[in-house]
Amino acid sequence: MYPVGEFLRRRADFSPNLEALVSNETRITYREYNHRVNQVAHYLLSEGVEKGERIAVLCATDHPFCTLFYAIAKVGAILVPINYRLTSTEIDWMVESSKPRFLFYDEAFSNIVDSLSTDIEKKIKVSIGDELDPSFGQIFTFYPDTEPYIEIDMEETCVITFTSGTTGKPKGVCTTHANLYHATIASMLATQPAYGNRQLASAPLFHISGVCTISAAPLFASTLVFIPHIHPAYILDMVEKENINTLFAAPSLLHLMLPRLLKSGQDFPSLKEIYSGGSPVPESLIKQFDALGYPLNVGYGATECTGGVTFWQSRDMDHIGSVGKLLVGEIKIIDPETNQELPPGLIGEIVVKGPFVFKGYWNDFEATRNVLKKGWFHTGDAGKIDEEGYLYIVDRYKDMIATSGEKVFPAEVEAVINQLDGVVEAAVIGVPDPVWSELARAYVVKAPESDLTETDVLEHCHSRLAKYKLTQVQFIDQLPKNGMGKVLKYALRKQARQE
Ligand code: AMP
Repeated sequence: MYPVGEFLRRRADFSPNLEALVSNETRITYREYNHRVNQVAHYLLSEGVEKGERIAVLCATDHPFCTLFYAIAKVGAILVPINYRLTSTEIDWMVESSKPRFLFYDEAFSNIVDSLSTDIEKKIKVSIGDELDPSFGQIFTFYPDTEPYIEIDMEETCVITFTSGTTGKPKGVCTTHANLYHATIASMLATQPAYGNRQLASAPLFHISGVCTISAAPLFASTLVFIPHIHPAYILDMVEKENINTLFAAPSLLHLMLPRLLKSGQDFPSLKEIYSGGSPVPESLIKQFDALGYPLNVGYGATECTGGVTFWQSRDMDHIGSVGKLLVGEIKIIDPETNQELPPGLIGEIVVKGPFVFKGYWNDFEATRNVLKKGWFHTGDAGKIDEEGYLYIVDRYKDMIATSGEKVFPAEVEAVINQLDGVVEAAVIGVPDPVWSELARAYVVKAPESDLTETDVLEHCHSRLAKYKLTQVQFIDQLPKNGMGKVLKYALRKQARQE
């Protein structure tokens, strides 16, 4: 077992001239990639960055992010990737909680950085392309490209990825070097990419799926190709231009890619495998892609499990609808009330154990204890396992909405709506949507004298939370509740489905 920095060092040793990163006209080989990483690592060391210190990165999905990932990993510091779709209030919370010493950011996100109210020792602007900003670019002129060779403990945290929390504030998932090592090896066994596989870097790098993309590429001997915007039109253009072999896309993105793929005469012969997941991947979508000759594989996982738990291969059409078999470790279905293991075929909570399970939430012992019990991670997902070991996701116990590849925890949105004068109470649910999987809708009870409008509620939320966290508002006389006064969200969901 070895730390992630070693993936890159060894690949650079074995395949120095293999293309590692492609972005517009910039083409970086594995030798150059490793050199750049070492230079940034030496810069961090010269600034006195120590093991365990956090470094935040607010950068687009492009090659500088990858360089920063490995440089931070090689010096034993901790990367805190930041989702640029969030508002400055949300990012402030992450910064306040993880206390990064430095922040590397893209010029495009300067406005977010300017509006942050938390102190950071140094904010370093990173430009994309060959025209590097002097503050970042000078690193490549002045610092040596030799290996820093810092000893790394495999159980140390390598990345803290923030996910929204069931109780409101985002929680930092601590992923270790060992987690990334095991997750990467497991996904390599499942997907078996060919040497020199050209992969579109279509997973956002601030998400665990993106982090895994960066860590897996050297091990797979893959070339990562970046696109300026993760948009269906750009994706297919890039597939053609750069002879892309594999790509990852959330189901919503696949829906948007379909019309062009269905157009007669549109053929992308290089495209061998598509991977999806993060929210349910409809069987109809899998079949449509299959009929067009593009195998659509499905993964099931969570940030707390370093991305992957199970994997279903599109060649296994007998088990379409399942999310496949366990990649590594152990899995069982339990009765969420009694914690007793259930036999095959019965529906219960999915719990998993293994080397991919995270270390805990950053500085949040209570939240960790709620989901990590005797090494078993309680996913909050409802599922069943058949006699052959195939897992089927059927529902969720946790109150969560999956929309456009992002996750929304209703408690966070409800807390923001409740700040508004005139709101008596609110409940947020996911309503089914053919493209975005689900859309977040708030049911709001307002005081009789209140003149609050739906637009007021939306504007209030959009100034404090990422826009995808609330898309619809409906006023309602009262929320359906049980005898204990608990809001019956399933009744609201049923009502929404009937519409
Ligand atoms: P995240 O931590 O953002 O990756 O979200 C993890 C959650 O996404 C899981 O607990 C599931 O609820 C959901 N999820 C991930 N993959 C799938 C899938 N293939 N099918 C259904 N739900 C999924």
